[in-house]
Amino acid sequence: MRAAVMYGAGDVRVEDVPDPTLLEPTDAILRVRRACICGSDLWGYRAMPAAEDGREMGHEAIGVVEDVGPEVTKIKRGDLVVLPFAYCDGSCVLCEEGLDSSCLHGGFFGRFKGGGAQGEGLRVPFADATLFVIPAATDESLIPSLLSLSDVMGTGHYAALSAGVAPGKTVAVIGDGAVGLCAVIAAKRLGAEQIIILGHHQDRTDLARRLGATDVVAARGEEAVEEVRRLAGDLGPHCVLECVGHTDSITTAIEIVRRGGAIGRAGIPQAQEIPDRQATFWKNITLAGGPTPIHTCIPELLPDILEGRIEPGLVFDRQLGLEQTPDGYRAMNEREALKVIVQP
Ligand SMILES: [Zn+2]
Repeated sequence: MRAAVMYGAGDVRVEDVPDPTLLEPTDAILRVRRACICGSDLWGYRAMPAAEDGREMGHEAIGVVEDVGPEVTKIKRGDLVVLPFAYCDGSCVLCEEGLDSSCLHGGFFGRFKGGGAQGEGLRVPFADATLFVIPAATDESLIPSLLSLSDVMGTGHYAALSAGVAPGKTVAVIGDGAVGLCAVIAAKRLGAEQIIILGHHQDRTDLARRLGATDVVAARGEEAVEEVRRLAGDLGPHCVLECVGHTDSITTAIEIVRRGGAIGRAGIPQAQEIPDRQATFWKNITLAGGPTPIHTCIPELLPDILEGRIEPGLVFDRQLGLEQTPDGYRAMNEREALKVIVQP
């Protein structure tokens, strides 16, 4: 089959790889209908050292189940399913505590041979616990929004939960990438009264307004902090959803958040330390977040998509064929595209 393989920074190739096969009795094989490129894939695209042995990429997909192992009982051949970015057994103590992203037997797609979603198919471990069946009669127009459940919409939602977003709260979202925009949707969905997005790309912040942002701050650094205070009041927003992961954005989050408030971190941290740890103590700030327990988030969000209350699929602004995947990476890396769908 054909799949996107990364060999190093700037080097993604679509090539022939072995067909995925059932290795465990709890596996399923998924035929991919739509996959997409993640902001986190770009970290490798910018920094991966050149390697002989490439990495099969992709952890977000909608697909049809092609085959199941003998111990798979819930998932059936022909099911249309959402692939969460991580797999989990659904039965260990951490899964039962709702932290399936730390499943004791779990792992991430795009990290093992035969497990990349940017290809024609992939192997899904623990299929019964991992996959979410969507009704076969689902309207085709909902596919992009359902695809966003694989990662970005769940991640924006979890950032909002981590920061304690609730009715009447003031919220700031840092970052106007796909996760930041989904965090806006999530904050609105959870009843936030004011949603301020901090971002520099006008087309994206315009979309943020359409999705529920009440205010936009395009300034950077100290100027951005002052602007947020002007909008949210001197005490600052109750909740800050940090959707970038850079030292600068975490520093801004700590500066703007209200005393006693909370920061929900969705951006994968690109620095080793949390800056300004003194301030997090003296301001009584909760720093929360981490890899999204996506299996816990999807059941809550799925009905809102199927019934048209939220439309996170709007974060996709380009669709390419699988063979054009390298161009999708380039376009996202150069910020020419916000988030790219790949169709095998
Ligand atoms: Zn588990």
